[in-house]
Amino acid sequence: MIATLQETSNMPGASTQTVVARLEGISKNYGNVRALRGINFSVHAGELVALLGPNGAGKTTVVKLLLGLLQPDAGKVRVFGGDPVNPQTRVRTGAMLQVGRVPETLRVREHIDLFSSYYPKPLPLEEVLAAAGLEKLRDRKFGDLSGGQRQRTLFALSICGDPDLLFLDEPTVGLDVEARRALWEEIRRLVERGKTVLLTTHYLEEADALADRVAVINQGGIIAEGTPTEIKSQTSGKRIRCITSLSVASLRQIAGVVEVKQDREAVEIHAAEAEPIVRTLLARDPRLSGLEVTSAGLEEAFLALTQDNGQNQGND
Ligand code: ATP
Repeated sequence: MIATLQETSNMPGASTQTVVARLEGISKNYGNVRALRGINFSVHAGELVALLGPNGAGKTTVVKLLLGLLQPDAGKVRVFGGDPVNPQTRVRTGAMLQVGRVPETLRVREHIDLFSSYYPKPLPLEEVLAAAGLEKLRDRKFGDLSGGQRQRTLFALSICGDPDLLFLDEPTVGLDVEARRALWEEIRRLVERGKTVLLTTHYLEEADALADRVAVINQGGIIAEGTPTEIKSQTSGKRIRCITSLSVASLRQIAGVVEVKQDREAVEIHAAEAEPIVRTLLARDPRLSGLEVTSAGLEEAFLALTQDNGQNQGND
């Protein structure tokens, strides 16, 4: 569905130009903790944006502001063109928060029925149970669920109202690999159905696997924004792994080498370009073995960006 107020933006990497949620010049302090420092951030209709950052970066604060659960100290928050606390806005949004607390004594289906009653056009119960993989747990009390099953119930509650805009704050924390993959599939399905999703995560693999666009947040500032590929290309690094008799100190002297780590019997070398380094390595150590060259993942990109925080602070 399309925003009630048609705001548009030219943000690169966005799947469509219609802005459904926006933070403009937002600062938020908790006492003397500066959680957000003048950030600008938009979510566009139909896209899946991952807000990626380490513990304490400010991700949950962004989500709570967009839900109207917190008020900013400075700046403006707009969701569907209005204040997030407007009832018309609230019925179009769903949220799965990290510390989602619901009564322990209600059964899974009772929770879903209760949450569904807040929305004008909720999804059928069976559809919600299936999407969250809860069919067999429908009659289990929330208090008797495992951690992962609770997470899935909170996901069910976030989608049961069939919201246009969904906030998922660290949705796969505590899920095993199978449950995480299943949830990813459901999240992808929501986006295919035209829903807009803002996901926070510190699973770099998760942002890479799901997001149309990634915003990297660190110390209350957005330090990079783009597609996962664009974020990776900002560091465009290569990882060279090999077993060599050359010392770590001598490897660090090779022109173009950014970092060298000893990893058991092998060394791992990070560099912008692999080929010149590999040529030098083979020339200096003809007995070098176990050579592997891979592209730097989102993890390296993220670390490089956050280590470079001072220079990159600020955003669109
Ligand atoms: P995590 O990945 O650990 O959940 P986050 O990126 O979601 O972290 P936030 O929860 O937004 O980070 O917190 C941002 C900063 O604000 C942190 O330094 C946090 O300690 C602080 N903070 C958050 N809530 C409060 C609060 N109620 N009182 C004081 N400080 C707070």
